[in-house]
Amino acid sequence: MKLALFGGTFDPVHLGHLAIARAAAAKFDLNLIYFVPADVPPHKGNRSLTEFQHRFAMLALATADEERFVPSLLEANSGQPNYSIQTVRRLKRTLKKSDKLYFLIGIDAFMEISTWKQPVQLLAECDFIVASRPGYSLADLGKALPEGVRPTEAALQVLRKQQATGTIALPSTTIHLLTEVNENVSSTQIRAAARKSVQQLSRYVPATVASYIKKEHLYISTSAQREKGDTRNGKVLSFRKAHDQESKEQG
Ligand code: ATP
Repeated sequence: MKLALFGGTFDPVHLGHLAIARAAAAKFDLNLIYFVPADVPPHKGNRSLTEFQHRFAMLALATADEERFVPSLLEANSGQPNYSIQTVRRLKRTLKKSDKLYFLIGIDAFMEISTWKQPVQLLAECDFIVASRPGYSLADLGKALPEGVRPTEAALQVLRKQQATGTIALPSTTIHLLTEVNENVSSTQIRAAARKSVQQLSRYVPATVASYIKKEHLYISTSAQREKGDTRNGKVLSFRKAHDQESKEQG
């Protein structure tokens, strides 16, 4: 079986994520794609994230009609930074020898890979599928690789004029470029759009996710929320705290 692990914050999941997953599944004959929302992403700075259960619920709605797309709890309830190297190794322990795992990632995230925990080891764990975007060259990808894996300056010179397409075969890993998708959308854009008008959301997210965002009043500012007298998110938070408290007490 061929599988891919697609990690992210998914705050919220959007049509770009789904388009990448569909294109990867078609091109690499994937049987399953695990969408793995991070409980505590190490790379997203100080922005406070939407509660994990909301992000997971939106993923479940967005993937409901796709047999091969599975929302995963691999990084749930960790309470500490979710490092991809650990997640990949955890997932691999559950796979059969004959299974082939890919790590699916967007080029903007891949450009930061040298700053991740144990990047050389991570690259050696499985092949990568990098969703490319226009404007990137193969040299950009090469330069982003961690020391020890990065091509020499002379080799980068040669790559400089080449579009980011095809496959880069390195001694420890193979990086496949996925160039079929060009969806100019990000979760940041959607959060900003939701603050202005929730009506616009269905341009960026599946209709079920747009309805969920509306129903749960996600991504509106706290003051706007207060004006509406809405306490629903507050209640989810208190519910989680109560649950955590209970779990602690049960040991
Ligand atoms: P944010 O705007 O909050 O940073 P995001 O839209 O990049 O979020 P993430 O959940 O961080 O979404 O992304 C998960 C993965 O999907 C990352 O590897 C990211 O590079 C990739 N990705 C997200 N949107 C796109 C897109 N439009 N095209 C290609 N890759 C994308």
